[in-house]
Amino acid sequence: MNEQLKLLIELQVIDTAILSIAEKIESLPERLEQFKGPFKEANASLLKIKTQVEALGKRKKSKESELEEAQDKINKLKLRSKEIKTNKEYEAHLKEIEGFEKSKYRIEDEILSVMEELEAFTKELQKEETRVKKAEEELKQQEKALEEEKKRLHAEMETYKTKRKEFVAGIDGELYEQYMNLLKRLGGTAVVPTKNEICLGCNTNIPPQLYNDIKKNDGIFTCYYCKRFLYYKEQ
Ligand SMILES: [Zn+2]
Repeated sequence: MNEQLKLLIELQVIDTAILSIAEKIESLPERLEQFKGPFKEANASLLKIKTQVEALGKRKKSKESELEEAQDKINKLKLRSKEIKTNKEYEAHLKEIEGFEKSKYRIEDEILSVMEELEAFTKELQKEETRVKKAEEELKQQEKALEEEKKRLHAEMETYKTKRKEFVAGIDGELYEQYMNLLKRLGGTAVVPTKNEICLGCNTNIPPQLYNDIKKNDGIFTCYYCKRFLYYKEQ
């Protein structure tokens, strides 16, 4: 095989690997964001329940002070009982007390139902806290794994870059320039194999005479259409 062609083919293999590694490195932040999803979601859910628990706590307190007020009024009314002279006044007085007693029972019922709700939400809160903790642990492990992967990818990249320099040193300057132009212009492939008289870079037919020359692999040939370097690969 033509020495330059051989070097170009090998350079393409290296560059394909470098591009694939670069893509993987680029996708790391997005993958990290994806890993953060369950943690963020659990946190948001926890916050929502916390807000509900706080609201219920406030409601319980306000109901308790309402209860205290009602009890206060009842006590004061009862103290005044001795001062009442007429039956009619006494009846009205008792009715007033009864009214406050009724609202006291109503408030007590309300407190009870708030407490039941509070209990249920507190259980839910504990569950959510466990979920957040678990999600956080998982995220930490995933972050660690990604960090290791990043290191590994960078090390791999360095190895390929060193290897690349060695190959580039052996390639004719003009040929290398041509290769680089193609690589940038054509999405990372500058050297492609041929198969059944077709350029596998652009799927265009190769004239028979040119194909015969390519098959020998002893010269530098390019596709008429996409200009990529062509070579023949034993099937
Ligand atoms: Zn082509």
